[in-house]
Amino acid sequence: METKEAEKITEEFFKERFPDKDIAFEKQCGYFGEWVERFKSGYPEYHMDNQSLRIWDKMKKMEIKKCCFCEQDITGYGNNPAPVKANNLKCCDKCNFNIVIPARVKIIGEYEEFALEEAREKHFEDKEKENDI
Ligand SMILES: [Zn+2]
Repeated sequence: METKEAEKITEEFFKERFPDKDIAFEKQCGYFGEWVERFKSGYPEYHMDNQSLRIWDKMKKMEIKKCCFCEQDITGYGNNPAPVKANNLKCCDKCNFNIVIPARVKIIGEYEEFALEEAREKHFEDKEKENDI
């Protein structure tokens, strides 16, 4: 995570966790910077008490995700972009409809064609065996 992003998250986190604290003042002292580093590390949970963990969990769920195709903000849960992109990413409804679903349909179509071809081959093999008898 980049510093700017971590600072934004730290600010949001402080507002929730320490609502009576002055953020501008907190930024002056080391405590804010310490949390920025913790969020940057990717393991802020290690330093959190139960109340902080609840807030952080909520923040993660609400976190705005960007579509892995068009980079628009995704509202709601988003969609799994597999098999076009990795399934830990998310894509918006529009790209899901325009990119991901057609790709899935194509794969299914290719598979069906393959299965049909196999069935045909097997059919002719069976016929040949019958003729041998
Ligand atoms: Zn998109």
